[in-house]
Amino acid sequence: MNAISKPGLGGGAYRIVDHTYDVVVVGAGGAGLRATFGMGAAGLKTACITKVFPTRSHTVAAQGGVGAALGNMGEDDWRWHMYDTVKGSDWLGDQDAIEYMCREAIPAIIELEHFGVPFSRTEDGRIYQRPFGGHMQNYGKTPAMRACAAADRTGHAILHTLYQQSLKHQCEFFVEYFALDLIMEEGACRGVMAWCLEDGSIHRFRAQTVVLATGGYGRAWFSCTSAHTCTGDGGGMILRAGLPMQDQEFVQFHPTGIYGSGCLVTEGARGEGGYLTNSEGERFMERYAPTAKDLASRDVVSRAMSMEIREGRGVGPLKDHIYLHLEHLGAELLHERLPGISETAKIFAGVDVTKEPIPMLPTVHYNMGGIPTNIHCEVLNPTATDQDRVVPGLMAVGEAACVSVHGANRLGTNSLLDLVVFGRAAAHRAAETVKAGATQAPLPADAGDRALDRLDRVRNAKGDLSVGEVRVNMQRTMQTHAAVFRTAELLKEGVDKMAKVAASYDSIRIADRSLIWNSDLMEALELGNLIGNAMCTIVGAEARHESRGAHAHEDYPERDDVNWMKHTLAWVDDRNAVKLDYRDVKMRTLTNEVSVFPPKPRVY
Ligand SMILES: Cc1cc2nc3c(=O)[nH]c(=O)nc-3n(C[C@H](O)[C@H](O)[C@H](O)COP(=O)(O)OP(=O)(O)OC[C@H]3O[C@@H](n4cnc5c(N)ncnc54)[C@H](O)[C@@H]3O)c2cc1C
Repeated sequence: MNAISKPGLGGGAYRIVDHTYDVVVVGAGGAGLRATFGMGAAGLKTACITKVFPTRSHTVAAQGGVGAALGNMGEDDWRWHMYDTVKGSDWLGDQDAIEYMCREAIPAIIELEHFGVPFSRTEDGRIYQRPFGGHMQNYGKTPAMRACAAADRTGHAILHTLYQQSLKHQCEFFVEYFALDLIMEEGACRGVMAWCLEDGSIHRFRAQTVVLATGGYGRAWFSCTSAHTCTGDGGGMILRAGLPMQDQEFVQFHPTGIYGSGCLVTEGARGEGGYLTNSEGERFMERYAPTAKDLASRDVVSRAMSMEIREGRGVGPLKDHIYLHLEHLGAELLHERLPGISETAKIFAGVDVTKEPIPMLPTVHYNMGGIPTNIHCEVLNPTATDQDRVVPGLMAVGEAACVSVHGANRLGTNSLLDLVVFGRAAAHRAAETVKAGATQAPLPADAGDRALDRLDRVRNAKGDLSVGEVRVNMQRTMQTHAAVFRTAELLKEGVDKMAKVAASYDSIRIADRSLIWNSDLMEALELGNLIGNAMCTIVGAEARHESRGAHAHEDYPERDDVNWMKHTLAWVDDRNAVKLDYRDVKMRTLTNEVSVFPPKPRVY
């Protein structure tokens, strides 16, 4: 480790500290921690950089469960899980990756149990499993009990266990360090730049491999279930490195966000027997999904709720939301199985769930799109002749990535699963490709200069708009123009408005020029990242002339497999102009234990 300094625009100098590791993981959510400790366990010198304390990552908020066909509570088979996931993805998911995830789910969950995750238990002491939307037995016949749960605090239980494992394997943590940009050299990743929020120093990490595990970008919308930290920083870094993002027009709205605050009520609540009603007291899901009813997949339920509200059957004085009933389940079950949401409903809706229904509204919950990778988590930079070209030295996992196992719509419980299965896969791959302690070439003389120049420019911005003003313009635009209902006109207007929002970023002002705990500066950097992700989302959505999964387009209501069964790739230049291209969906399997599921209509 050595330190140098470089001058900045506002006078004064930046103190730069150099580090060398075998692997640097950016992000300490479920994905980042699973990768971190797996790499540590493989004997690699591993650093994990995180802008919040590890156990404050958004994974801590995951409630309902993690999917695996353990068959602890009724028959199950990973091939049924694979079928459900392919169908849930509306045939946009890559079938090799889905096969890998559903098969590996079983050992990955047993491993979690052995690491110490305190799962809820069945009478005979096995992991408790509950039903969840879109998870069925026998290729879509009857609901399966597949969601392994630790009450309604599954993410909390998993995240704490993974952090303990990381400490056990001597991984080094850089907590409250904000990753700024990748260090690239001739198409390969050589490291990452980070800003220490506590003392203002700048850190240049050199590594054989960098893993981006920075989570989603729900904060690009006005109402979302995700934490304030979910700002798509990994995507921002990818786009600035000239690499593409994939399938970002697919955004999951969770049917049950608490009206007003957006706080999540897990689908597990419907898994335990909760149901939705409209202003006529009707259990309307029976009309939209006669078999799965309230447990149809999320896009289907969100759309049905939006239809009821649009057709005047919403509840409340403004007829603008829907009720979720749990009161018939009884106080005892609610206390045992859904204690967290009982508390959330009390705090955020003032509702006693044992007596009254909870007011609900579909709310942004998950980003299916992200950084394209192969099943080994290696980041892709596709070309016309090589759709699977790998970026040397760069991996991505978790919600930041797009493997793609979720395709156009993610099934509940499949994200926690994605984190642990692919965090583990990244560690396996690094154990093969990274040599512990290997000598690394010196970084180029100007390594990190662009990142530092950008930081310095933003820090000294003297425009007339506050970061908060630009952010809310973006959030309202995305909420209106890139939500559950999409029409050609709405999307077109949205693209124009987002282009204006993006341009207005040049007119922001930073009030505080310090480098120590400067939340204004950090939020400005996060906003820059959000804007890149939002641009890819809305431009990709406008271009996609079909309806598939979460992308329901009123003017193109049918899925079009001939023209659109393909992944979107989006690049953003430094003027925020988006360029699109496409790549094929992987219709192949890795083993002969299962065959490809050909596309068919998706009904629940
Ligand atoms: C309320 C809620 C409930 C959910 N419930 C479920 C569920 O029951 N089952 C399920 O399968 N899925 C669920 N999901 C989805 C799932 O929890 C998330 O998709 C998943 O936890 C994301 O994990 P991650 O590791 O990719 O990212 P996160 O947990 O979001 O972690 C991101 C990490 O990146 C770090 N980071 C980001 N940017 C930077 C930067 N610039 N510099 C340094 N560090 C950075 C952060 O500090 C953090 O450590 C839920 C999501 C929400 C919001």
